[in-house]
Amino acid sequence: MLDIVKRDKLISKLNDDFVWDVVIIGGGASGLGAALESVTRGYKTLLLEQYDYTTGTSSRSTKLVHGGVRYLAQGDISLVLEALKERGLLLQNAPHLVTNKKFLIPTYSWWYKPFYTIGLTMYDLLARDLSFGKSIPFSKETTLLKMPSLIKKGLTGSVLYHDGQFDDARLGLNLAQSILEKGGVTLNYFKVNGLIKENGRVNGVLAVDQETGEEYNIRSKSVLNATGVFVDSILKEDNADSKDVVMASQGVHLVIDKEFLNSEYAIMIPKTSDGRILFAVPWHDKVILGTTDIPKEKALIEPLATDGEIDFILETAGRYLEKAPTRADVKSVFAGLRPLAATDEGVDGKTKEISRSHKILVSNSGLVSIIGGKWTTYRQMGEDVINKLAKVNGLEDKESITEHLKIHGYKEGVDFDDPLFFYGSDREKILDLVKSNPEFGDYVSERLRIIKAQVVFAVRNEMAVKVIDVLARRTRALFLDAKESVVMAEEVAKIMAEELGKDDVWKKKEIDFFKEISKSYILN
Ligand SMILES: Cc1cc2nc3c(=O)[nH]c(=O)nc-3n(C[C@H](O)[C@H](O)[C@H](O)COP(=O)(O)OP(=O)(O)OC[C@H]3O[C@@H](n4cnc5c(N)ncnc54)[C@H](O)[C@@H]3O)c2cc1C
Repeated sequence: MLDIVKRDKLISKLNDDFVWDVVIIGGGASGLGAALESVTRGYKTLLLEQYDYTTGTSSRSTKLVHGGVRYLAQGDISLVLEALKERGLLLQNAPHLVTNKKFLIPTYSWWYKPFYTIGLTMYDLLARDLSFGKSIPFSKETTLLKMPSLIKKGLTGSVLYHDGQFDDARLGLNLAQSILEKGGVTLNYFKVNGLIKENGRVNGVLAVDQETGEEYNIRSKSVLNATGVFVDSILKEDNADSKDVVMASQGVHLVIDKEFLNSEYAIMIPKTSDGRILFAVPWHDKVILGTTDIPKEKALIEPLATDGEIDFILETAGRYLEKAPTRADVKSVFAGLRPLAATDEGVDGKTKEISRSHKILVSNSGLVSIIGGKWTTYRQMGEDVINKLAKVNGLEDKESITEHLKIHGYKEGVDFDDPLFFYGSDREKILDLVKSNPEFGDYVSERLRIIKAQVVFAVRNEMAVKVIDVLARRTRALFLDAKESVVMAEEVAKIMAEELGKDDVWKKKEIDFFKEISKSYILN
């Protein structure tokens, strides 16, 4: 079992003479999934992330592990089948993070109820032995018993269906921990800013430690570009003439108090005025509302929600909820960028389309890039891309073993009302910290039920380097209540500075940086 993780010790493995089998650029869902796939096949594996794990799109999802009801409506059965299978596997492999959630589709016209019941029964049947539960039509009365917060006027009932929910950043971290436990190396705050090439073939990367500025030449038999909306910048390092293959599409979420929903059920609105799906999902004692779909010219690591997107979500929620949320009710707003495939041709004219859910591109240099897909299918994406990487770069052919691989933190029967539930098997270690020093049991935030031991644990065992790592991704404070997270920043910086041996200058810099980032998460 992984114990205290020392960054220096991991960095010491970046020896100039060592040749890795697989180097992965990007620590989001795609990169982490591929790295776990690679290391469990026995390849010597290194993953480098320029910021913290899942800082990009992978901490900004709707938090659903789903087959995609929308793809079913579009008739894309193979995509739904793939995602439903992966949904079931993820619940088996990370039961401390994934829950079976009940969703209601409220109906305000008589014929929608039979229509959605048929569609969702099919959705359930497609999951076969990995089904999450039957879809059932509810009367108006039963619907209001389950969700009293719905607007009653015109309500004809609802349809119940099941899907999965998870914590994206926590799963990303647990994947990184699993990779380390299996003998791979993952480093956050390591930016790749060049590729090493010999005779036209990529055989390594140039990387810089963002913490110290030190540069590293890293040799590898193969390199995977899993940089999400930044895929094109690595492709241009490989070939300055490479065409853009990624188009970013922004999705925004708002977080409000759970009283607005007043139910353990989630709502799914199948068709908003702009033709999208809108969700209202209970998450960590709050409710997430979202999302939108707006093309963006520029890939940013901290994308900004527009007023139009915020108003659209509030207005749509207000059409279904008795108590309509307003801007003043928003606890946090966060935006993420979907990396969509801009072209079907791909780099060097050599695209291989594995499935419509994700694309794998092979460059003439042997560089392999992955784009698209979703969190739910990260494991299948990892399997597909490592198959391709191995084949293109002459690595020994090895079988995938991730289908039934338990992910770090695996624990059955967790109590989801316990504020420490998402640590799974690590929960005991947090409690041990409190036993060793009762002060660690004090709250950093009573409102969010976050204790000091979680900050200490994040530094010692969860590779947290900066204050924002603890507030945004080890705990989800920034996403749950951005103003409260700003209040917490000082105490978190103090505890981290003690753990890391940092001075007051570091503390101030960290707090100022966090406050600056948090501004775009605060609406009022
Ligand atoms: C609004 C929204 C809602 C979504 N909801 C869901 C959902 O509910 N369920 C679901 O299954 N999927 C969902 N998705 C899809 C899912 O979140 C994405 O498919 C997935 O997170 C993409 O992961 P990625 O690893 O490809 O990209 P990213 O998470 O962006 O990771 C790429 C990483 O590469 C790093 N990087 C870039 N350049 C470099 C470099 N030079 N050196 C080192 N590192 C570098 C970046 O910092 C980044 O962390 C949603 C997506 C969006 C946008």
